[in-house]
Amino acid sequence: MGIVVQKYGGSSVADATSVKRVAQRIVATKKAGHDVVVVVSAMGDTTDDLIDLANEVSPLPPARELDMLLTAGERISMAVLAMAIGNLGAQARSFTGSQAGVITDAEHGRAKIIDVTPGRIEVALAEGSIAIVAGFQGVSQTTKDITTLGRGGSDTTAVALAAALKADVCEIYTDVDGIFTADPRIVHDARHVPQISYEETLEMAANGAKILHLRCVEYARRNDIPIHVRSSFSDRPGTWVLPADQVTKDPTMEAAIISGVAHDRSEAKITVVGVPDKVGYAAAILRALGDAQINIDMIVQNVSAAATALTDISFTLPRADGQTAMTALARLKDEVGFERLQYDDGVGKVSIVGAGMRSAPGITATFFQALADAGVNIAMISTSEIRISVVVAENQVEQAVRAAHEAFDLGTDEVEAVVYGGTGR
Ligand code: ASP
Ligand code: MG
Repeated sequence: MGIVVQKYGGSSVADATSVKRVAQRIVATKKAGHDVVVVVSAMGDTTDDLIDLANEVSPLPPARELDMLLTAGERISMAVLAMAIGNLGAQARSFTGSQAGVITDAEHGRAKIIDVTPGRIEVALAEGSIAIVAGFQGVSQTTKDITTLGRGGSDTTAVALAAALKADVCEIYTDVDGIFTADPRIVHDARHVPQISYEETLEMAANGAKILHLRCVEYARRNDIPIHVRSSFSDRPGTWVLPADQVTKDPTMEAAIISGVAHDRSEAKITVVGVPDKVGYAAAILRALGDAQINIDMIVQNVSAAATALTDISFTLPRADGQTAMTALARLKDEVGFERLQYDDGVGKVSIVGAGMRSAPGITATFFQALADAGVNIAMISTSEIRISVVVAENQVEQAVRAAHEAFDLGTDEVEAVVYGGTGR
């Protein structure tokens, strides 16, 4: 039988008891005849604790040293897991990202994988070992420094290794039984999704669903790696993420046009008030943000008031970039001649996602009516072919998610969702 890559998130290896439980599952997979490669995250909240520690000794820790520090978290879990497996009588060997051949660019804190050369993993497998790889880290091709892939990056490590090793499947173990029609922490009757396309999963991940790292899904789609998202706390079947033409829709959800509702509270909204409605001004504003390396999400430009020929431009961006964006825009004030800037971080985004909406009219109306009935005001709107997103007040996000879920009849009678861990990874 072929190679199986299994990734265990921090909540699955939070303490010694969990590590032993996971070790059992890994050994069982090996005994079933597979070659097993395991990717682990840092135990529990280790990564956050290490970030806090860094901030205690330095307000702005150098990115190189921060990466060196954070990768220690995954080193602990890989070694401890290898020991636990050894204790069960199976052979296991742990490898850092660098030893496993995960080659990245030199962007500390958000490095991209540019190549994977897993020679040592192949040797370990050929010798009958289980290979344990530290997630979320690699080594820069140019500087030879240790890098990290960004928060939640272990999913991406797992898929990248699965692609390089031509594995049959990449199993992502987390603390819920796969993907649900909404976050079960908010919607108690959220329905389990047995299979879903890469495209829909990408939209969900890009719009706040925390189940999979966005880049992991992109990588899987590009390399045709089936992802099986499962709980390490149960033996339930989980969710398969697959090419669209291989997805069989749940027969009980025949009429479902919407696959799920995602929400995101990590964004803020900036409004540039009183921009002269002239050619090139929107470009100047967006250029300033681009130069500051800020990824903006939704943009709305109102029609200019006839009397003043002034307009407002609003956009959303990661809250973490709020300060940088405001500073960059303030510098443009004289050049562009706008009136003022408004910053609002009390916003959230709610999105409905579903490939079926391509061919179904009236979806937007149903969604907006549900929000209206729930008393939720819409501040901004954006759409893709298979997604409709709205920005609402942050304290109305949960209401909005529940209203949308209900309006598209996504709920189930039996409560299906069990949240086993605490952190959602
Ligand atoms: N330990 C890292 C984090 O917490 C990477 C991961 O969990 O995937 O972000
Ligand atoms: Mg983690």
